[in-house]
This record gives sequence, structure tokens and C-alpha cells, in this order.
Amino acid sequence: MANDSKDTRPIKDQRVCIIGAGPSGTAQLRAFEAAEKNGAEIPELVCFEKQANWGGLWNYTWRTGLDEYGEPVHCSMYRYLWSNGPKECLEFADYSFEQHFGRAIPSYPPREVLHDYIMGRAENSGAKKFVRLQTAVRWVQYSPETKKFTVTVKNLPEDRIYSEEFDYVVVANGHFSTPNMPEFEGLSMFPGRVLHAHDFRDALEFKGKDVLLVGSSYSAEDIGTQCHKYGANSITFSYRTKLMGFDWPEGFEEKPLLKKTVGNVAHFSDGSTKKVDAIVLCTGYLHHFPFLPDDLRLKTHNRLYPPDIYKGVVWINNPKLMYLGMQDQYYTFNMFDAQAWYARDVILDRIKLPDRAAMKADSEAWVKREEACKTEEEKIDFQTEYVRDLLQATDYPPLDVDHVGELFKEWEHHKEEGILTYRNRCYPSTLTGTMSPQHHTLWMDALDDSLGAFLKAPEAAE
Ligand SMILES: Cc1cc2nc3c(=O)[nH]c(=O)nc-3n(C[C@H](O)[C@H](O)[C@H](O)COP(=O)(O)OP(=O)(O)OC[C@H]3O[C@@H](n4cnc5c(N)ncnc54)[C@H](O)[C@@H]3O)c2cc1C
Repeated sequence: MANDSKDTRPIKDQRVCIIGAGPSGTAQLRAFEAAEKNGAEIPELVCFEKQANWGGLWNYTWRTGLDEYGEPVHCSMYRYLWSNGPKECLEFADYSFEQHFGRAIPSYPPREVLHDYIMGRAENSGAKKFVRLQTAVRWVQYSPETKKFTVTVKNLPEDRIYSEEFDYVVVANGHFSTPNMPEFEGLSMFPGRVLHAHDFRDALEFKGKDVLLVGSSYSAEDIGTQCHKYGANSITFSYRTKLMGFDWPEGFEEKPLLKKTVGNVAHFSDGSTKKVDAIVLCTGYLHHFPFLPDDLRLKTHNRLYPPDIYKGVVWINNPKLMYLGMQDQYYTFNMFDAQAWYARDVILDRIKLPDRAAMKADSEAWVKREEACKTEEEKIDFQTEYVRDLLQATDYPPLDVDHVGELFKEWEHHKEEGILTYRNRCYPSTLTGTMSPQHHTLWMDALDDSLGAFLKAPEAAE
């Protein structure tokens, strides 16, 4: 079905639907804008975004559960969230941090600062005219007869459902929003708060408390250190497969898997117990596409190379459908860009896709390669190779992925050297070469995560 189904109408008569205006969806808008600036004709773009603003997960809200329209709240971010990797690893190749802020800034900005950076590029581009905010995609259907997708959406404030036809659909709705919720014996009788990381908002809620975090990935690590920073009494992690093994200071401990709770006592698989006040399930997220039928829906767990999508982008069974940002992520914003440029060039027919068998074979080879990766370094190298492969196919501005990959490895080592201190480190921009300045306050002492406090000159900071 690859190029045999290619539309022969002029590109400007074709329509592209983008689902979601987070970093991935806005990357898609930016990619088309860049082509248009260089003189190309582009299709009509419509980006449906269910939130009231663009920015995806980086849009913070106090809300949890359902929003004012009964839609699941997308946000999984929380107050006091700071970047968990160096900003130099995610810098857009066509929009440096220095360009946005007018000067170099430290390497680990808080959420509001990164949100400002993402939005800065998007706002400057005039892409907002393509975005229909507060419009949730409800269903996508492909017709082999018309070779078009019918996309049904709901305008939330107007309480109005309508459908439009599109030639291509780009799915960019993220995959860190629908919680994976395991059950543990006794939880329904636990006398304190039990919540998923998706609903965690403010570490101060746990001040003075003994907190159990079930899970051993980024969420557990970050929410645990946050709670410690804002005054929790103790932090206990429970892991299923392996210890995080960081240099935890006093007040932290790692236990094997939670078996059950009896009253407020957690029982672990090694027979040990711990009295706790609150339990945060840091048990990951599900890829969730309630608007896609079986034949278009990606089915995967969180991994570096989900199956069935060629180049991690093109849905092999129907190459008019693309996915952005569905991988587990070391690379983020610049990888989404690389994918968006690739998807754009498939749509503009600049990239000729091979036949289905060749796409399948290519994707399976990458999946096997991913499965052979054992160490963090091998996984970083894997994603570096993946991004490099995408970049060589398009005119995305030069990005030194070897340098980015090296920075990721340094970051890993810095985390091992000090889980509470790695955010005080500085790295050079791979675009401008400028070394980031030291932040005016050590991360453990920086309790105000606002953009204003972060950007204050060192002498003006408290
Ligand atoms: C707690 C947490 C911390 C993180 N920290 C970092 C970090 O420090 N650094 C980093 O680089 N990355 C971090 N990430 C990774 C994050 O996934 C990416 O930075 C990025 O937000 C992914 O962009 P996206 O556009 O693919 O998805 P999202 O940001 O999830 O955006 C998807 C968009 O789609 C919209 N949408 C969903 N469903 C529909 C629908 N049916 N109709 C219309 N619109 C819809 C959503 O409202 C949202 O705006 C973090 C993730 C989490 C959960």
C-alpha cells in the first residue's frame, strides 16, 4: 500500500490532521512551516488539541481526574518539576536556548522555563492559526474507497461534535498520560492517600510523611527526591525487577516488590515491612488511543522501538497514518522534530517509502537491535542511531547527535555520582558551543521553581 496509494492531487489540495499540540504536534507544524518558508507548497493543516493551550504535558494544571468537560486530564507534571536531563540534549536544532532567552541559562531548568522555550518557538512561527484548541478527537476512520480519513471531534466549550475528512493523520497525543494501575492486596483498606504519579501535584502534601513509591523508574526517582526536598520524613521505593541503586541519603530505602498492605503497614516480598502514610504508584503509563480502530492502532508497551511503525513514524499497514513521539525517550524535543520532518517529507512525497515488506523488515531489524541493548549506554547509543537515521533523510538543521549522545552518558554518570546533586551540573550547547552558567542556587535549596526566580541574576537571587 506504500507509494501505490499516493495521492496525485496538488499538495495544497490535501489535508493533514494532527492530533495533539504538545512538543510532537507543534514539531509537525514547525516542519511544514520550514518547508513553506523554503518555497514549498504545503497541505492544509488542522491540529486538534483538547486542552485550552498548547504545550502538551508541559502545560501544568492543578486538576486531576477529569477536567471541566469530563475529559481525562492530560497533565502528568507537578509543581517544582525540574528537567530530569540536561536541556542541551533536547535543544531544537533550529531554535537555541540562547536565541529564546537572549543569553545562556543553566542546564536544568524547571518546567515553566522549558514550557516557555517550547512555546516561544511555536508562538514565533504563527502556527497557532492551525490549532483548534479545546477540541478532542473522538474517532478516526479510514475508507479504502475514498482513501481518506474521517476524523470526528468534539468542540468542548460548544458541546458540538463534527467530522471532517483528511488525507493524512499524524497521531501526536503522547503516551505519558493514561496511568498503568496495578492492584495490591489491602490497598482498598489503606488508611492514607493512594495515588498514581499521574495525579501527583504538590510534594508539600507529603511534608513530614513516610511515603512509599512503587516503581523504580524516572517517576519514582523524581517524585521521591521531590518529596524529600520538600520535607517528607522518609522515602521508601519498592522495585519489581531491579534496584535504582543511587547514593540515597539517610531517610531513603529501596525494598523489593510490595506484596500487600495491612492497615498502614506495607509488606514486601523479602518479608520486611514498613509503616507508611501515603503510597504513590509510579507504575508507568499506557499507550492509549481511544479514538483509533484496531487496524490503525499502535499496540505497544513503553520501549525504544515500538513495532509496526516504519522509522518509528509511519504506520506500516497504512502509511497515510503517522505516529510521533511514541518511543521511550532519552531524546525528546529534537527527536520529535526529526520525526516530524520525516513525516512531513513522506507527505510531501520527498521521501519515497519502500513497499510494505521492506518497511516491515526494516522495523523488525530495529526492534531486534533494541532488544539486544542491555546497558543504559547501549540504549542511549541505540536512540542516537535512530535519530541519526531520521536526520539523514531530511533537511532538518544540523544536529550533532554524537555530541548529544555523549552528554546523555555524562548525565547518567552524574546521576550515579549524586542523585541530589546532578542538577547542579553544567553542559555546553551542542549548537552554539556556549557552556551553561551555574545556577544561582543549588537544586536542593531552590524551592521556588518559577521562571522569574530561575532567570534572576545570581546577585539578585536570595
Ligand atoms: C512527569 C513527566 C516528566 C517529564 N520530564 C521531562 C523532562 O524533564 N525532559 C524532557 O525532555 N521530557 C520529559 N518528559 C517527557 C515528555 O513526554 C516529553 O517532554 C513531551 O511532553 C512529549 O511530547 P508529546 O507532544 O509527544 O506528548 P504530550 O506532551 O503528552 O502532548 C500530547 C498532546 O495531545 C493532546 N491530546 C491527547 N489526546 C487528545 C485527543 N483525543 N484529542 C486532542 N488532543 C489530544 C494532549 O492534550 C497534549 O497536549 C516528562 C514526562 C512526564 C510524564
